[in-house]
Amino acid sequence: MRGAWKIGSVAGIAVQVHWTFLILLAWVALAYGAEGGPAAALRGALLICLLFATVVAHELGHAMAARWFGVRTLDITLLPIGGVARLERFPEEALPGLVIALAGPLVSGLIAAVLLGGALVVGGPLALLPGPGASLVVQLGLANLLLCLFNLLPAFPMDGGRALRAALAAFVGSLAATRYAAAVGRVMAALFGVVGLMSNPFLLLIALFVWLQGAAEEQAALVRHALRRRTVVDALARDVRVLPPGTTVADAAMLLQHGLQQEFPVVGDGRLVGVVGQGDLVRALAAGFGRAPVTEVMRRDVAPLPLATPLTAAYERLQEAAAAGLRALPVVDEGGELVGLVGLDTVAGLMAVAAAAAAARPRPGRDRFEMPALGAAGRAA
Ligand SMILES: [Zn+2]
Repeated sequence: MRGAWKIGSVAGIAVQVHWTFLILLAWVALAYGAEGGPAAALRGALLICLLFATVVAHELGHAMAARWFGVRTLDITLLPIGGVARLERFPEEALPGLVIALAGPLVSGLIAAVLLGGALVVGGPLALLPGPGASLVVQLGLANLLLCLFNLLPAFPMDGGRALRAALAAFVGSLAATRYAAAVGRVMAALFGVVGLMSNPFLLLIALFVWLQGAAEEQAALVRHALRRRTVVDALARDVRVLPPGTTVADAAMLLQHGLQQEFPVVGDGRLVGVVGQGDLVRALAAGFGRAPVTEVMRRDVAPLPLATPLTAAYERLQEAAAAGLRALPVVDEGGELVGLVGLDTVAGLMAVAAAAAAARPRPGRDRFEMPALGAAGRAA
């Protein structure tokens, strides 16, 4: 996430804090300081830091549950409105979705129970009264209780909303479940907005987050659904120019002028031996390697995509490849033989069409629609 600094890592997951978090810290310290002087300011800052340590624990709850189901967590980021655990994907199946969504609030609830229970044992019932006189332990315990309960509200994509979505998925299917949960989430966001306007500006921020992020995730689910049976076959360019290993860099660069292809598979003895991209050729030419064979500048470590690769998975691989300078990847059949190339722009185009087709039918409950065929070379059996 842009504007976030890594402050450490827990269980192999990077924990970072967004710079806007410092504004919250300063704001709370100033508010406490204005009431009770420097000591109170320090206490306020300490409370916020401890509170966000428990927020990290909440996010780790999600992350550990996700790991149990084989889903990696990319990082955990602390924002003023709370924490975000970025999972590589959120499972669409009911059980993993439910467990991962509820694991965070469960951790917050447990922390609250331990802290408030401890305060009750040590100080009696009066110690639990909220207010400025409450101990740090009680304030932290109450905050975690609030964190637990607030996150359980069915405001998709907050935890309660994700749990609702997962539970619904068991009955109405994944796509309809996402649409219902997002609709409930929008009602909740509107409520947050109204209450936020009257009382708490943070609630307004959360309302905005729920509304925008919910819409984005609903859209992504629609695209995934529309493309669920599509494989790279649907985006495959079969008529591609391949290079024999002896081709010189200069000859290969000449082919770039046609503009039809920027990546060239290098095939020797009927086998794919590497891929060379426009950037590789241009750099080699600039370095004076025009007469060198392409085998000296090609990439040998490009894993080809099998024909049966789902389009959504191919899209992720293509994005990684594009970051490394290749905008297309070779595709091979079951026998490992090269059958063509699949390009990032083609797949992105298919996804955009799927998104448009999905947006054209915004009625919940309609689980069936088919994306219009677009340049599809054929469909995998
Ligand atoms: Zn959570």
